[in-house]
Amino acid sequence: MTQTPRRNLVIVGGGTAGWMAASYLNRFLVRKGWQITLVESPDIGTIGVGEATIPSLVRFLRAMDFDEDVFMRRCAATYKLGIAFTDWFGHGHRYFHPFGICGSINGLDLFHFWMKHRIEGQATEAYTDYSLQSLLADEAKGPRQHGADSPIMRTGTYAFHLDAGAFAQFLKEVATAEGVRHLFGEVRAVRRDPWGDIAAIDIGGGRELAGDLFIDCTGFRGLLIEETLGDPWIDWGRYLLCDRAVVMPLPREDDPLPYTRSTALDAGWMWQIPLSTRTGNGYVYSSQHASPDQAAQALIDRADLRRARSADPRHLKMRIGRRGNGWVRNCVAVGLASGFVEPLESTGIHLIQRALELLVDNFPAGDRDDLLRAAYNRRMQALYEEVRDFIVLHYVLTDRVEPFWRDARSVAIPDTLQDSLDAYEMDGRMHLTHSDIFSETNHHFILAGNGRLPRRPTARVDFTPLQPIVPVLRQIREQNRAMAASLPSHRALIAAINANP
Ligand code: FAD
Repeated sequence: MTQTPRRNLVIVGGGTAGWMAASYLNRFLVRKGWQITLVESPDIGTIGVGEATIPSLVRFLRAMDFDEDVFMRRCAATYKLGIAFTDWFGHGHRYFHPFGICGSINGLDLFHFWMKHRIEGQATEAYTDYSLQSLLADEAKGPRQHGADSPIMRTGTYAFHLDAGAFAQFLKEVATAEGVRHLFGEVRAVRRDPWGDIAAIDIGGGRELAGDLFIDCTGFRGLLIEETLGDPWIDWGRYLLCDRAVVMPLPREDDPLPYTRSTALDAGWMWQIPLSTRTGNGYVYSSQHASPDQAAQALIDRADLRRARSADPRHLKMRIGRRGNGWVRNCVAVGLASGFVEPLESTGIHLIQRALELLVDNFPAGDRDDLLRAAYNRRMQALYEEVRDFIVLHYVLTDRVEPFWRDARSVAIPDTLQDSLDAYEMDGRMHLTHSDIFSETNHHFILAGNGRLPRRPTARVDFTPLQPIVPVLRQIREQNRAMAASLPSHRALIAAINANP
């Protein structure tokens, strides 16, 4: 019997992207006779941020068969039910972007019925008043009882805040226990074969690592995809102005909130992310509108001076854009090497996950691999563009008057976003070009949260009498209140998870 020759997949980079790739791909490829090796530099650090996630991570954890409590303990995780945006539209204004939907009637999103109720019934409640996640966030509740299931768990409409370093470490232990080889070494040279594919990398100390497929997880630098294979970076600085961040973790809060806080500041916005062991803080800003010192000071001023005194601000440069093609020849870029849109909606880890899922779906089979590669590249490009449009949306709605905010809302609006906004203005539907991550519902939360409403509800709802809708709306809120009353505080839930190793 002939044996299939062993094939080698080499991952360069040991950040979140590298270890997600190693642990996830190994589960699929080990059965096909692939050996995965991950090499990371002992001297070049990881970016060390990436603490908020979106609900798709639940799918990743379930695909990996992780116990949620174990994962949460190992990664100092807390629950995330959405994002609170403060001062974005103007000083003192707040809106919430919850996960999940508020409901639907006859297959139509509740948004349109809420609109009708508002226009014809002169109702004043916010659209998010119908969201269970929003109510739980307001009441600082957890999404489940410890050891029990809940509708939010069943629908997977929740996410986590996590310690990025601990997450990478957790995945590393899983991957290496399951056969992934881990090496320290810095790539010094790349050898290509006569056709131009990557044949091997020189990782110092006389060591050369040969591979059939290479995954570039080297961060913004893109060592293989850009420096070796010359794939261009498509810059999106004309759409999104923030290109720097200053980061400063603080001690943990006694009462970790089950949501991310995003607060608009003079030259960008600040995040506050509660973990079970500390609070992540950062200020994402435009270098055209603030210096690093001004940004650090603004963060210290806002983040609670007394607690900040012991923390050193860390400064990061951000490159906003995407790869021309994330997969070129026998190299696939994953993580920051493949693109980055600012972290406002916590999509970095999600884009890593989607890259890995799509890579498995389009894995080279030795037969028309060019088609598989093209399909992968098209999907990844669409995902990055979808995130870009959604982030730009947050900026163009603001009413703030500081120079940064005036500049940020005067950017070129991508055609795809402009078309959706034009459609929305009319009857609330958006006809989105891409909605793999952010559906119409997500857009409705942002638009309605900023007071932007369509001229009328969509025709099917417009032609429906209001009378039978009102009790349904009331019932949704009553059900949410009953559910919230049955759930524990987020603080108690996190304490219970961490008390039961
Ligand atoms: P890195 O962490 O930069 O890792 C690069 C790796 O490559 C390192 O191990 C390094 O040693 C190795 N390397 C580099 N050169 C070589 C070489 N020559 N030889 C060998 N090894 C090499 N995402 C979210 O999902 N949620 C968030 O809330 C979020 N917040 C963010 C905030 C900011 C300010 C930024 C900038 C990003 C944020 N992200 C967020 C994105 C997230 O941080 C990244 O997607 C994630 O950390 C993946 O990084 P990475 O592994 O691609 O790169």
